[in-house]
Amino acid sequence: MKPLNEITIAEARKLLDEGVVTSKELTKACLTQIQSLDGALHAFLEVYADDALAAADQSDQRRADGNVLSKLDGIPLAIKDNMLLQGKACTAGSKILQGHIAAYNSTAVRKLIEAGAVILGRTNMDEFAMGSSTEHSAYGPTKHPRDPERVPGGSSGGSAVAVAANMCLGALGSDTGGSIRQPASMCGIFGLKPTYGRVSRYGLMAMASSLDQIGPMTKCTEDAAIILETIQGQDPSDQTTSNEAAFKPDWKTSLKGLKIGLPKQAWQAGGIESRVLENTKAALAELEKAGAQMVEIDLPYADEALAVYYILMPCEVSANLARFDGMRYGLRKQGMPLFETYAQSRAEGFGDEVMRRILLGTFALSSGYIDAYYVCAKKVQALIRQAYAKAFQEVDLVVTPTCPATAFRMGEKLNDPLAMYLEDVFTVSVNVAGVPAISMPCQEDGGMPVGLQLIGKWFDEATVLSTARVLESELSKQ
Ligand code: GLN
Repeated sequence: MKPLNEITIAEARKLLDEGVVTSKELTKACLTQIQSLDGALHAFLEVYADDALAAADQSDQRRADGNVLSKLDGIPLAIKDNMLLQGKACTAGSKILQGHIAAYNSTAVRKLIEAGAVILGRTNMDEFAMGSSTEHSAYGPTKHPRDPERVPGGSSGGSAVAVAANMCLGALGSDTGGSIRQPASMCGIFGLKPTYGRVSRYGLMAMASSLDQIGPMTKCTEDAAIILETIQGQDPSDQTTSNEAAFKPDWKTSLKGLKIGLPKQAWQAGGIESRVLENTKAALAELEKAGAQMVEIDLPYADEALAVYYILMPCEVSANLARFDGMRYGLRKQGMPLFETYAQSRAEGFGDEVMRRILLGTFALSSGYIDAYYVCAKKVQALIRQAYAKAFQEVDLVVTPTCPATAFRMGEKLNDPLAMYLEDVFTVSVNVAGVPAISMPCQEDGGMPVGLQLIGKWFDEATVLSTARVLESELSKQ
């Protein structure tokens, strides 16, 4: 049998049900792995060892009493440092929130707790989820588990590494422009961004509210489904959650009858690293072998999506981050006039990337420029949505590589914001359109992991996940 920290949620659940393992054993195995690896990798900002062991004991007691709460009862998970867990520090990777204690639970985390999951700790992230490498954390970078000279991707790099290095059985990340999928791709795990409105954002520190979604980061497709089933649903505390029918897995064994669109804008884009192209194309062949029909499609405005994202997102960032004024939360500079307190607290509390985006957003929203930037970007966003709607009249899924390249070296893009933004070229249109997408690992050639992105219709996570699972099982046979 594999070490307990290396198994999947689905496997753990079976062993728990059979009485072969306890939640305490699973939790201990993860804590031991954290202890031995996290000094070097820095996936966690805080580990709740005592709370986790106590929660595991309670879960084992429930199981002994025949009161198992859910599929996640007793399963050790990690959460990203931008989701509130009542009574615990939550900093969104920022110095401005150092020492900030959450006053209430975010809905997604509350649902995990109510399901009996064991929360191991909070994971590192780019400050306020702005970045693609986790180098923008105010608390130091997270390292790639296979090569500490490389980045794990971001902004949910801590969660991705915690899962990939078997420090937990699964984790939550958040995705505004690719922050679940891109680090999942770079670390060789599964990362699902649900449809906008599927999962409540209540208690998630807002980056760009119209694009943010919380989602699972896991070792297999089935685990992603288990977590999504738990955290989904309409929430009176988040008016953007939808009353659409709940996600229910609909597993298939063959892909017969499924039509998959390959946007020529992505596959013929150039600029895709050859290893990524080779590996993702090999995965496409497997999809075809499993019965799917592959068709080349036109997805207009795919190229414009990055520009649209890098206008809309900073505009919302500039509004959302106005609340960090040195008065209400976290860091406060004192002994100076009020305006100076605002300015100095923000100047000291925010990192360079956050300030860059606040400035860009404030500029793009300012009178005289709002029509040229924000309003124009909103119009192109509508065209991008239409392009997806049209594509989905023809196909059931759209497939692209997740990232143009594998994990890059630490420091390589840190001083070149544009190069860092280009990392997101295949992921941002998904958020701009609000559709669901998963990144899943393809074949590997002994080097860095490569991810394939499967994009579905609005609220059709079932097809995204069932297709991913068929491909996962085909690839595992090799
Ligand atoms: N890398 C993207 C950015 O820096 C995406 C971030 C995210 O999804 N939170 O904006």
